[in-house]
Amino acid sequence: MISEEAQALERELMVVQQIKGRGLTDERLLNAFRVVPRHRFVPEGYLDSAYEDFPLPIGQGQTISQPYIVALMTHLLRLTGNETVLEIGTGSGYQAAILSRMARQVYSIEIHPELAQHAAEVLADLNYFHVEIITGDGSGGLPEHAPYNGIIITASAPEAPPPLFAQLAEGGRLVLPAGPRSSQELEVWQIQDGVPKCKKSIPVVFVPLRGEYGWKVGEE
Ligand code: SAM
Repeated sequence: MISEEAQALERELMVVQQIKGRGLTDERLLNAFRVVPRHRFVPEGYLDSAYEDFPLPIGQGQTISQPYIVALMTHLLRLTGNETVLEIGTGSGYQAAILSRMARQVYSIEIHPELAQHAAEVLADLNYFHVEIITGDGSGGLPEHAPYNGIIITASAPEAPPPLFAQLAEGGRLVLPAGPRSSQELEVWQIQDGVPKCKKSIPVVFVPLRGEYGWKVGEE
């Protein structure tokens, strides 16, 4: 059993070495990573690796992303604290917890019911009440709670799903990994003069987005 003090120290090292050390210096972002207990979102067998610099399995063939990638995608949303955000791909619930420290309201949708239920339980246990977990195919977004100031997809799509653009608020950002398994890149989309415009960030490797606007099994 690792003490809370030791876990806080591991988190601080993660923040300093993996996030700040790679150039992300916004204090609100760094504080979110200092306070969210990542070890609560990883399976028991991986507790020793909870704060390491790599992704970990969470069951159902899915992963909790590397801390730096969670931080970079959050940074790319440019949140100031008053936003409504949609996450597509709840997984463990860790990214949703980080987002909930950075925005006013978070909706997060997960296609695997077992993962959605577990994430909702962990988030409720940690009193993250302004995060709502929904079970279902989120590849076309979640129109009932739109518009969103930020939409983040945490699985790799063939391309930015077209229905998401209509769910973005004025000035909102859509952040996602796009492309096949061998050549994915992080993309940041914003609507400018009524037209979606894309800026590319870094190459990444994510599990595939499934569902209507995702990859069919075997195609990715
Ligand atoms: N953000 C997660 C976290 O913090 O643990 C990691 C997400 S994991 C890399 C990608 C997740 O996307 C998986 O849990 C997967 O089941 C989910 N997913 C894939 N396709 C989906 C879809 N169409 N709708 C909702 N979730 C989907």
